Amino acid sequence: MNTYSSIRLDRAAHLRREPDWIQKKLRPGKSSCIPLWQGKNLIRGDDRQEALFPRFSTDIHADPDECIFLGMLDGEAYFAYDCSELQNPPASLEGKFEDLRSLAGLLPPEEGALLAYARGMCHWHQSSRFCPRCGEATRILDAGHQKKCLNGSCGFSQFPRTDPAVIMLVQDGDRVVLGRQSRWPAGMHSILAGFVEPGESLEDAVVREVREEAGIEVERPEYQSSQPWPFPASLMLGFRCSALAGQTVKVNTEELESARWFSREELKQSPEDQTFRLPRRDSIARRLLNEWLEEDSKPQ
Ligand SMILES: [Zn+2]
Repeated sequence: MNTYSSIRLDRAAHLRREPDWIQKKLRPGKSSCIPLWQGKNLIRGDDRQEALFPRFSTDIHADPDECIFLGMLDGEAYFAYDCSELQNPPASLEGKFEDLRSLAGLLPPEEGALLAYARGMCHWHQSSRFCPRCGEATRILDAGHQKKCLNGSCGFSQFPRTDPAVIMLVQDGDRVVLGRQSRWPAGMHSILAGFVEPGESLEDAVVREVREEAGIEVERPEYQSSQPWPFPASLMLGFRCSALAGQTVKVNTEELESARWFSREELKQSPEDQTFRLPRRDSIARRLLNEWLEEDSKPQ
């Protein structure tokens, strides 16, 4: 299972349109809140890597109209609430606000997934305050899952969005392509990735991205697994594909600082330091690489 995915949470979409039920759950102490502050999530903040879920409207005072219903877990309603407009995090809360990515999958998986969902929804709320068609302000509907333009002659509706991106392990026998972007942490290398463009299938996007970034022709893209990556709004779709034999990597330096073939042995001996390291452990890139590294090295 990929980090940030597969939570037991029941999104209970039918309840988003039950305003009376939502109002009841927003009464003090009735529900759990997942607060966001300037894109950061609330965690315990000592040695224990745990999320904190303050009681709604007792531990944290929130505007009910701004609360986003996430769903039900073990009979409890969970709401996300963005308090980014405060200059400092609410003083009533224990713990501290941290970037979810800095916890690098150290949280219990269920908590990490809940926090990621809340983060993605709050990001969408921040970026959908105004109508993209006419520029008028929007109002919140469906317990935070729809924004409608306040201009009566427009009335355009927006819904939470996630942007598909393909990420692919390109193999040629016992070697794979890894690249590096200059803004990444020192030494980090990863497999190739890119956003899907309008009018493209996922397989088309895999072939195009590998050609654009590394000058390599690939065939047979095969879907492996996916990962929500709400940093801020991506869905990573993991593929594996085979390069036509014997090709040389031609790096597109507008997209990558470097890229080349790496052998299985070379990656198994990664020093994991500033000279060379594999992608972060909570990423689908690392999972795709680990699965490949663990396979028999005989040609397939
Ligand atoms: Zn509008």
